[in-house]
Amino acid sequence: MSGTMLGVFFLEPGHLELRETAIPEPGPGEVVVKIEAATTCGTDLKAYKRGHKLMKPPMLFGHEFSGLISAVGSGVTHWHEGDPVVAANSAPCNGCFYCRRGHQELCENLDSRFNWGAYAQYIRIPAHIVNQNLHRVPAHLAFAEASLTEPLACSILGVANANIQLGDTVAIIGAGFQGLMQAQLALAAGAGQVIVIGRSHGRLAQARQLGVHVTFSTLDVDAVQQVKALTHGRGAEVVIEAAGSAETWRMATRMARPGATVLLFSGLPGGTHVEFDATHLHYGELTIKGVFHHTPRTIEQALQMLSSGYVDGKMVIEGQIPLAQVEEGLHRMDRSEVIKLAVLPGLS
Ligand SMILES: [Zn+2]
Ligand SMILES: [Zn+2]
Repeated sequence: MSGTMLGVFFLEPGHLELRETAIPEPGPGEVVVKIEAATTCGTDLKAYKRGHKLMKPPMLFGHEFSGLISAVGSGVTHWHEGDPVVAANSAPCNGCFYCRRGHQELCENLDSRFNWGAYAQYIRIPAHIVNQNLHRVPAHLAFAEASLTEPLACSILGVANANIQLGDTVAIIGAGFQGLMQAQLALAAGAGQVIVIGRSHGRLAQARQLGVHVTFSTLDVDAVQQVKALTHGRGAEVVIEAAGSAETWRMATRMARPGATVLLFSGLPGGTHVEFDATHLHYGELTIKGVFHHTPRTIEQALQMLSSGYVDGKMVIEGQIPLAQVEEGLHRMDRSEVIKLAVLPGLS
């Protein structure tokens, strides 16, 4: 297949451009996917605003997508034109120091193994992703929801590291995409009480619709006191920070009971330093865990959670836009008007 397509290019921070470019051709072991839906992501917004260490503009932009295979390279036997698929944005090398120790998310070769260009009509999937992180989308799952597989796989790696035991109180700071996903996963993992702490009352109402037991806004109450009041004065067994500020990182440790696990999910700008109370960390035996990215296993689990309906992805997709409106869509995310938007190349 040859010809041209439309794709959104990231030229430099603050500058995207919709351009005509060549439709990619699949090399050996590769496939090309005609994108049916992409989803906007906070990582894209951050990159757009201040650049990103993994993104080297000028480049095609976007990384959450699903669609139909439109071309298959030589040597690909398991996939065929027309197959509905979702692919992750990277896949590990499986040979490096970290991969060999079961930490594929820390793969030393990850930087060169990303695939960008979800805000486009077509995308080429490199062989290492075809081999490990390309999955069939079941017929009942809408493409826009299937596109959430990648960010949900990051949530799953988070929850898998949060040490949630049946009946635990899990406090989640943040009611954006990650907060709402982690809340659903905590419920699925058997948490007895899930508390979501946010700012916007509308977002907190969404969390309650998803089955979250208690929500409150930091605009109304002292979050740490409130969590303690709900846990006999002790604090939560598991705290997940998904809001992304030094203040909420600190808050997360303060609402954790002795022996708790605190998962610091949201990254902070490079060079940020956060102060913690050493007495509470040491004598309280806190486990503080950072977490990043996903693995092939959590990609597979994410698609299963979306397909089974354990995780509702529909709620967080708050509108549909054509490729020409990606930049405006990111501005809408930045103003917290929407959690995510579905980018449909078929819309005009
Ligand atoms: Zn993302
Ligand atoms: Zn590796």
